[in-house]
Amino acid sequence: MKIAVLPGDGIGPEIIAEAVKVLKALALPLEMETAPVGGAAYEAAGHPLPEATLRLAQQADAVLFGAVGDWKYDTLPRPLRPEQAILGLRQALGLFANFRPAICYPQLTHASSLKPELVAGLDILIIRELTGDIYFGQPRGRRRAPDGPFAGAEEAFDTMRYSRPEIERIARVAFEAARQRRRKVTSVDKANVLETSQLWKDVVAEVHRDYPDVELEHMYVDNAAMQLVKAPKKFDVLVTGNMFGDILSDEAAMLTGSIGMLPSASLNERGQGLYEPSHGSAPDIAGKGVANPLATILSAAMMLRFSLKQPEAAARIEAAVQTVLADGLRTADIASDGCTVVGTAAMGDAVVRALG
Ligand code: NAD
Repeated sequence: MKIAVLPGDGIGPEIIAEAVKVLKALALPLEMETAPVGGAAYEAAGHPLPEATLRLAQQADAVLFGAVGDWKYDTLPRPLRPEQAILGLRQALGLFANFRPAICYPQLTHASSLKPELVAGLDILIIRELTGDIYFGQPRGRRRAPDGPFAGAEEAFDTMRYSRPEIERIARVAFEAARQRRRKVTSVDKANVLETSQLWKDVVAEVHRDYPDVELEHMYVDNAAMQLVKAPKKFDVLVTGNMFGDILSDEAAMLTGSIGMLPSASLNERGQGLYEPSHGSAPDIAGKGVANPLATILSAAMMLRFSLKQPEAAARIEAAVQTVLADGLRTADIASDGCTVVGTAAMGDAVVRALG
């Protein structure tokens, strides 16, 4: 099992070191090779995604990614900015399905801005389509408005589009994922207004015929945004397009209040995946040894489950994280009264010990 390890910038190297420590402690036949990405790669090789890094990622079964970006690169031309590395990897690997679980651990309910009873025990999964929709549809551009009340004025336009096969494959991913969970899928669209969404809704309903054991509900995106803060626990798997998913997955992440706890995965049709924490490179705390490594450690668990087909090892890591939290250990971002505040490396060590 080959893993490309791409630590990146800011806190990336610190949190990745802890995830690698945990993976090594599992004593599985894992082959890990590290390469620079993002700002670190720009410094070393003049490009955020050098050819050698891309090749390593393509040849691996999975990519474990830290985070990229720093304000000091904000003045670089867009193609050389660290964030371009993620877009380049998504495109080159054909990563079309983005998994963003939002889990609220019982010990951390205080971190949420919602009432504890609304989020205690929350465990939902947002699946976002990553390669289509208004972000990539053509044509797009600027022009003079050809008609209407503002004819002749400057206007900009984008194209929202989805094809049947793109919707089918993400719908299948969602139903399969629901089968491993509580067997309920909520498909989110805006079919009352958008033709793209009507096709989305029709195709998801057709694919559902192959999954009679999974419950399907359709929900408009405005209602989904409301329900996520009103009664988030009634969801299991949400599946949606690129733009709605972009917004709803960040909303769901915030329900837990602990960005340092949330893993994510992006998968392609061959089951290859890129696994990374949901947070960024946190330049404000980089190098201080205080970053929370748990989102990255939990991303490594997702990698074991989805790309490396090692569900027992994944469950061991997840249980170890629960144990560490139950023992009262916290990094500064999730600290509360009566807990023991530890740094990045001590948290990684504690997870290793809790693996048993
Ligand atoms: P961020 O997620 O890096 O940080 C937001 C806040 O959360 C900061 O206060 C930070 O200290 C805190 N935080 C984040 N992760 C933490 C952790 N593991 N432990 C403790 N605290 C943590 O978002 P930002 O500040 O908006 O962006 C910083 C840089 O990261 C930017 O250059 C941005 O482009 C980049 N970014 C990268 C990714 C990625 O690599 N996938 C995603 C988002 C942002």
